Amino acid sequence: MTNMINKAIATVIPYCPKKFIWVFSKKYIAGVSVQDAIKVSQSLNEQGVCVTVDLLGEFITNIRQADEHLEEYLQIIASFEKAQIKGNYSLKPTSFGLLIDPEKCYQNIRGIVALASKHKNFVRIDMEDAQRVDQELLLYLRLKRAFPNNVGLVLQAYLKRTQADLEELLKEHTPDSPLNFRLCKGIYNESADIAFKDGEKINRNYLKLLERMLCEGVYVGIATHDQALIKGAYELIDKYNVPKDMYEFQMLYGVTPKLRSSIVADGHKMRVYVPYGEDWFGYSTRRLKENPKMAQHIIKSIFVKG
Ligand SMILES: Cc1cc2nc3c(=O)[nH]c(=O)nc-3n(C[C@H](O)[C@H](O)[C@H](O)COP(=O)(O)OP(=O)(O)OC[C@H]3O[C@@H](n4cnc5c(N)ncnc54)[C@H](O)[C@@H]3O)c2cc1C
Repeated sequence: MTNMINKAIATVIPYCPKKFIWVFSKKYIAGVSVQDAIKVSQSLNEQGVCVTVDLLGEFITNIRQADEHLEEYLQIIASFEKAQIKGNYSLKPTSFGLLIDPEKCYQNIRGIVALASKHKNFVRIDMEDAQRVDQELLLYLRLKRAFPNNVGLVLQAYLKRTQADLEELLKEHTPDSPLNFRLCKGIYNESADIAFKDGEKINRNYLKLLERMLCEGVYVGIATHDQALIKGAYELIDKYNVPKDMYEFQMLYGVTPKLRSSIVADGHKMRVYVPYGEDWFGYSTRRLKENPKMAQHIIKSIFVKG
């Protein structure tokens, strides 16, 4: 029943006035301009939290838009470095032309990683839907060869293939060119053939993957707001005595800030994902369609203040 209600809300919301959507979106999105993103990031930095900034706008229809996106990212890096923000950069390959011209996409992202590496900084490649996984793995490995310490990838625990992908990737893990992953559950609506649908199975796989990464000395961004996973991660960190500079927790801007503060108070590194940009409306409504469960959070954020 709850599922049906969530789905109904998620279907209707994209047709609501933009102003109405902004009521909940503003909690999760830093604003429309790079200055908005810097302001939010500075405030998070003051709370002892570092950031990863993401310019919204996954869907492009021509390669010119990919070039525009590239220019904007180069500007973001220049502005963030100038403002001395403690943070790095996240991006989605489809925004840089992955579906239109994969070679151009590689060159575009290479340009961004090159600039980040000049500032001794880092770029995280977000993982998109399951059909993009092969391409994004290859893209990551190619970039990692060029910039061994400045690029990382996201792996999704809900995908049945991830365990095997991780084993393959571990072959590329060397002291001079270490792997660096963000581990998340996965946000897209994938079919049961390829993805675990049951929450417990996803969590079990998440902790199995995390354990393997930590044991192999892979740097992991533990990206979750799920208390059970955070507890499981704490246990693994204790069990293997994982040094503090080999992992971090990651959360989305606006989600579970109290839990975030408690992790920071426990002495762990925390990074918040800060999305911003003109495409906030598209981002919010797409997230809703992909994951109707988010409708619950929207309703909550509209009716329950604070
Ligand atoms: C830093 C970061 C980067 C990510 N990058 C990617 C990526 O590249 N590719 C990808 O597929 N997915 C990505 N995700 C999304 C991720 O895959 C999950 O869909 C998302 O984090 C929800 O899963 P969860 O582990 O928080 O657990 P859930 O069980 O979904 O959530 C646990 C609890 O957190 C709270 N919560 C979760 N989401 C919200 C929300 N939106 N609003 C309010 N409360 C909420 C609720 O209290 C919920 O009960 C990312 C997530 C994070 C934190």
